[in-house]
Amino acid sequence: MTLDLTGRLAVVTGASRGIGYHIAKQMAAAGAHVIAVARTVGGLEELDDEIKAERARTGKGEATLVPLDLADMTGIDRLGGAIHDRWGKLDILVANAGVLGVISPIGHVEAKVFEKVMTVNVTSTWRLIRSVDPLLRLSDAGRAIVLSSGAAHSARAFWAPYAASKAAVEAMVRSWADETRNSPLRVNAVDPGATRTAMRAQAVPGENPDTLPHPSEIAARIVPLASPSVTETGMIFQAKPNRWVSYQMPA
Ligand code: NDP
Repeated sequence: MTLDLTGRLAVVTGASRGIGYHIAKQMAAAGAHVIAVARTVGGLEELDDEIKAERARTGKGEATLVPLDLADMTGIDRLGGAIHDRWGKLDILVANAGVLGVISPIGHVEAKVFEKVMTVNVTSTWRLIRSVDPLLRLSDAGRAIVLSSGAAHSARAFWAPYAASKAAVEAMVRSWADETRNSPLRVNAVDPGATRTAMRAQAVPGENPDTLPHPSEIAARIVPLASPSVTETGMIFQAKPNRWVSYQMPA
């Protein structure tokens, strides 16, 4: 059955490129009003152009662009306040924005790099959750999807800051899902697997990007997790070729 997100309001962070761009585009194509968050205005405008063109064809989908550095915590608070004032609720959160930092032996990581990875990947995700949790609870079928990584639960030399940040993200998802278990809100983490994006090229520069799935393919698998029909909560969905492996985080 085709996914219908008509009338659903979605925040997608990291919507200026990569996986987040395609999640935002596909959610709008399914009828959602997407609040697209990132710093790069050019990327957000390109997304908006594509969503407007699709709307001209199908009458579906809309975007509101929010140029925001997620290191700006009061900016995140203002975003939640603005959504409350204008719409009074939120149906979908996709906390997708992230940074890799540097690939380096743990002892060589500069403090400012470690702190930036933690700020963007962890603190801003918590702040965003704090900002929109009351709004998601006002939806009849609130859905939250938080992007994690296989690095969160595998031993990967030289990836310490990023791996630590994604382990922290999964821990937050686990707590949040447990807190909301008896509400309509469903909260899950997604490990998209290696995907053809700028971040992956930075992480593994020697790799042939043509061997990796396009972010639109991964997005097409993530978007249905925002459907009101989803029942799972507190799960990690790990993308494997053509299927999800999902597992409950241990209690
Ligand atoms: P990209 O580097 O292609 O895109 C990252 C997005 O995050 C951009 O839109 C960027 O926007 C945004 N972003 C980064 N820093 C900030 C900031 N300070 N404020 C606001 N937005 C910010 O990454 P991917 O699409 O590859 O990754 C998406 C998610 O998937 C990430 O959480 C990543 O960890 C995860 N992931 C990716 C994998 C892969 O192989 N690609 C594998 C496993 C997990 P802008 O720069 O415009 O602000």
